[in-house]
Amino acid sequence: MTDLLLFHSDAQAQHRATTEHPERPERAAAVVDALRASSLAARLVERTPAPAERPWIEAVHAVDYVAQVEAASRAGGRMLDPDTFTTSASFRAALATSGAAVEGTRAVMSGEAKAAFVASRPPGHHAEHDRAMGFCLFDHVAVAARWAQQHAGVERVAIVDFDVHHGNGTQHLFERDPSVFYASLHQFPLYPGTGRAQERGVAEGEGATLNCPLPAGSDGTAWLAALEDHVLPALDRFRPQLLLISAGFDAHRDDPLAQTALVDDDFAALTAGLVELANGACGGRVVSVLEGGYDLTALAASATAHVAELLGCASASGDRSERS
Ligand SMILES: [Zn+2]
Repeated sequence: MTDLLLFHSDAQAQHRATTEHPERPERAAAVVDALRASSLAARLVERTPAPAERPWIEAVHAVDYVAQVEAASRAGGRMLDPDTFTTSASFRAALATSGAAVEGTRAVMSGEAKAAFVASRPPGHHAEHDRAMGFCLFDHVAVAARWAQQHAGVERVAIVDFDVHHGNGTQHLFERDPSVFYASLHQFPLYPGTGRAQERGVAEGEGATLNCPLPAGSDGTAWLAALEDHVLPALDRFRPQLLLISAGFDAHRDDPLAQTALVDDDFAALTAGLVELANGACGGRVVSVLEGGYDLTALAASATAHVAELLGCASASGDRSERS
């Protein structure tokens, strides 16, 4: 069995804003370069994903919206919201990233790989059912969760989101659905403004949404406590058959888009907790998808720490920078 599939796509390099923008191709490149240079490299199998099939995307996003993103790309690109650009390559890049999340899920569910990490972009967790938002076009973890249910016989999927911003898109897509548990750790208040502790799901989905809002200035100790005190016990009760991670690294103290104070090793600790949970609940089946993280050095080091833990290989800490 392959230890870990590392997905990256060429299309993401052409998904670049015409003006300076924090969500840029260098982000995914920094992560892939750091992993290749780490002691983990021998245990990674790199893979270029096929684009997601349209029905997989349309299982979570409105048909008209998917067509709108495609048309925007065909026309050379435009802004879909004040933060969210498209270029002629954006539809392809978003399909490739969703495709990677699905291929990773397929490989993990079939036993081909123990885990998968998607180092591609644009990110996904702010994308709503019928509109782009917050740098995001399609919600890749949501696409993978539905794909797993519809094509891999999975009933219960858990999504844990430790990006510093609340994943409004993922929450809204599943808030009425008791079969997909969504848990988020995030700075609050902060963009996008959702993610209060009182948001616990809607109707039949009540109790399958868990928000852990943390104030600006919170450090890794506070984040790990929220994970251990709230998220892990809830996941243990839910008993997921697959764990998806929305892996944003913008809670790092060096990140320019938030005011949280995590260091590289804190992402390792969060990941270790999640992997231990997955080992107990679902045979260690974990697919992690890059979301935010906008300081390239912090992003690369934190993502490497994260992947080391996905591999059950804390010894890669020797690769990490002295800054942490
Ligand atoms: Zn973020």
